Amino acid sequence: MSGTGKTILVLGGGVGGIVAANDLRRRLPARHEIVLVNREETFVFAPSLLWLLVGARRPEQISRPLRRLVRRGVSVTTGEVERIDADRREVLVGGRTLSADFIVIALVVLSALPVFGAVGSRTDADADSPRSVPALADSLAAGQLIQPEDLARLLANSTARQPAVLQVGFKVLFRSGHIPGSRYIGPASKPEGLAALKRALRKIPREQAIVLYCGCCPWADCPNVGPALHAAQELRSGNVGVLYIAKNLQHDWVEKGLPVSKGDQ
Ligand SMILES: Cc1cc2nc3c(=O)[nH]c(=O)nc-3n(C[C@H](O)[C@H](O)[C@H](O)COP(=O)(O)OP(=O)(O)OC[C@H]3O[C@@H](n4cnc5c(N)ncnc54)[C@H](O)[C@@H]3O)c2cc1C
Repeated sequence: MSGTGKTILVLGGGVGGIVAANDLRRRLPARHEIVLVNREETFVFAPSLLWLLVGARRPEQISRPLRRLVRRGVSVTTGEVERIDADRREVLVGGRTLSADFIVIALVVLSALPVFGAVGSRTDADADSPRSVPALADSLAAGQLIQPEDLARLLANSTARQPAVLQVGFKVLFRSGHIPGSRYIGPASKPEGLAALKRALRKIPREQAIVLYCGCCPWADCPNVGPALHAAQELRSGNVGVLYIAKNLQHDWVEKGLPVSKGDQ
């Protein structure tokens, strides 16, 4: 951008990116350029995917063209963010390099992308440390990742020591189907959920294994299991595992015929 105007790239056209772009547009003079970058042209309201699954909504009821959701003065670029160089303030989008003065990252799946340079996250407790969004896979030691069939086998074995299985996702998901005997804790992506998890963990005997699970969305996109694992690792020296849900609980547990309970308990 020429003159004194700055360019702000907002990466990710989900709720976070749209709100950030619109809020910046409202606050900043028109000489500053705001560009929202998203993989698709259309915004899908993720929580309503659950209604879509049960046939209570049609796709067009839960989606809108992104361009209609941003304020005038926010431009939308469609493409895959492939690489972020925070130090050079450059982003590779669909093979094209976009330069910026500031970059807002609202992609959720940051850990799956090559990110270079210092990246801070204001939503993390350690906001000042670089790369403060942890890569879930890096945090898992061998044996901590539990496959659905293995957990189901363990839970069915009445002579085996049973783990405490904690659901760290959304209530609506727990009610519609959860692992029998598992406890609802709440979304670990939110401060209340993390606090509830820490309270629960303090009450569970140290020798009892913990298994965390969510299943709201594909593994790399899940906002909950990563923060839950990090909180559990801080509180307990070991004995913490995470259930590997590749796509979602419906696909990786229910449709495999593994046991399910519905409702609050
Ligand atoms: C089934 C389901 C139910 C949920 N229920 C609730 C609920 O009841 N309450 C609640 O608070 N939250 C709920 N959530 C979570 C909530 O939807 C998310 O926390 C929220 O959408 C996160 O918003 P975001 O903008 O940070 O990320 P997202 O909404 O994931 O947006 C990220 C955007 O970035 C884009 N993107 C990602 N990577 C790239 C890339 N490399 N290049 C270009 N674009 C990219 C994505 O396509 C997406 O548009 C639910 C989620 C799901 C899936």
